[in-house]
Amino acid sequence: MEKLSKVCWVPVKEDSDFSIHNLPYGIFSADGVPKTAGVAIGDYIMDLNWFQLNGYFNELQLPEGIFRNEYLNDFIGTGKENWTALRTRIQSILTEEENSHLLRSTGMYRQDMMRMHIPVRVGDYTDFYSSEEHATNVGTMFRGKDNALMPNWKHMPVAYHGRASSIIVSGQPIHRPKGQMMPPDSEKPVFGPSRLLDIELEMAFIVGKDSSLGQSISTEEAEDHLFGMVIFNDWSARDIQKWEYVPLGPFLGKNFASSISPWVVTMDALDQFRTHGPQQDPKVLPYLEYDGDKSYDIELEVYLQPNGGEPFKITKSNHKYLYWTMAQQLAHHTVNGCNINIGDLCASGTISGPTPDSYGSLLELTWRGEKPIRLPDGSERKFLEDHDTVIMKAYCRKNEIRIGFGEVKTQLLPAL
Ligand code: CA
Repeated sequence: MEKLSKVCWVPVKEDSDFSIHNLPYGIFSADGVPKTAGVAIGDYIMDLNWFQLNGYFNELQLPEGIFRNEYLNDFIGTGKENWTALRTRIQSILTEEENSHLLRSTGMYRQDMMRMHIPVRVGDYTDFYSSEEHATNVGTMFRGKDNALMPNWKHMPVAYHGRASSIIVSGQPIHRPKGQMMPPDSEKPVFGPSRLLDIELEMAFIVGKDSSLGQSISTEEAEDHLFGMVIFNDWSARDIQKWEYVPLGPFLGKNFASSISPWVVTMDALDQFRTHGPQQDPKVLPYLEYDGDKSYDIELEVYLQPNGGEPFKITKSNHKYLYWTMAQQLAHHTVNGCNINIGDLCASGTISGPTPDSYGSLLELTWRGEKPIRLPDGSERKFLEDHDTVIMKAYCRKNEIRIGFGEVKTQLLPAL
C-alpha cells in the first residue's frame, strides 16, 4: 500500500472520494475563471495553473501555462514520467505543514463553486463488450441460452467504434432520442421517441500515449498507454438498437449520448487496487496473453432518481468482473496496426456482475421489462421515464484507503 508519512492539510472526510491517495485531474471554470486544469482534494480543487505560476512545480519539466487549458491533452502529452512526478510533488505540497495557509489562498477553490467540463478532447471512442455476464444475459434474451455467447466472444475482446462528438460530461441533461423502431406487434417500422431508453454501467480508460499507424501494442506495453479512467454511462435506446443492429452493429441507438464523470482517476492512483481477473478458458491467442494483475477492484453503484424524489440504488457491480483486461483490449485494438491517440476513450462495455442485483443495465435488471423495478415512491420502472435522473458512482477501498471517481449524473428530458 501507498505510504504517506505526513497528514494532508486539506480536510478530507473519511468517505470522500478525493483523498490524498487519489488526486484526479479535471477541467474547471467559473465566472471570471477560464477553463483550467485542477486536481480534486477533499471538497476543494487545486488550481494547477496558480501553483505553477507561483513556482511550486519549478523542478518539473512542464511547459509554462500548460494548465490554463480547455483540455488535459497537452499535459497528458508530456508523458508518464511527468504524470508520476507531478503526483508525487502534489502529495508533498499537500502534506507539508508550512503550506497549510494555501487553503485560504486563491490557488484553492471549493468544488461546489466551480463548473466541471469534459476533461479531455476525445478524438476517437471505442466501446468494448467485455463482461461475460452482460454478453451472456443479452445473448440469452435475444438468441436463447444455448447460443448466448457468439463463437468469437472468448477469443477476442469484441468492440465497435462509437462516436466521440456526443460524449458529454456529468450534469449535462440529454433528450430522449427519436428513431425508427419495429414494435413487436407490428409488421411495419414506426418512427418516434424511443420507448425503451436504458443505461449501461461502464468504465472507460483514456489513452495517454500515441501509437503510430502500423504499430501494434503488446499487452506488456499497453499499460504505458493508459492515463486514467472515468465512469461511463453509455445511453442505449433498446428499441432503435434492436431494429438497426443487424448486420453492422450499433448506430443511432447508441450515438446520441454517452456521459462521463468529470474527474480522471490516474492509473498511478489505481495501482494499489489491482487484482487478478477471471480465469480465461479457452486459452487466448499469444498476442492476448498477459502476466500479473491487470484487473482493478473498483466498486460500482447506480442510482435512479425519479423527478422530485430521492436517489434509489438499483444495482451494484465491480470492474473486476470484466473478462477482458484493458491491456488485452488495447493489444487487440492495435493488433492490426490501428493507431491510437492521446485523449482517445475506450469504454469497457456494460459491467454486469454474477447475480441479478449486480446487472449493469435496465434491460438485464428488469429482464426486458418482465420484472419491473419498484421505487420507494411506489412507481415502477421497466425503462427510463422522462425527467428521471441516473447517477453512477465508482470507488475503491482497501484497509484505510479510499479513492473514488465522484459521480456521473444525468437527467433525461423529453424528446425535442
Ligand atoms: Ca455499451
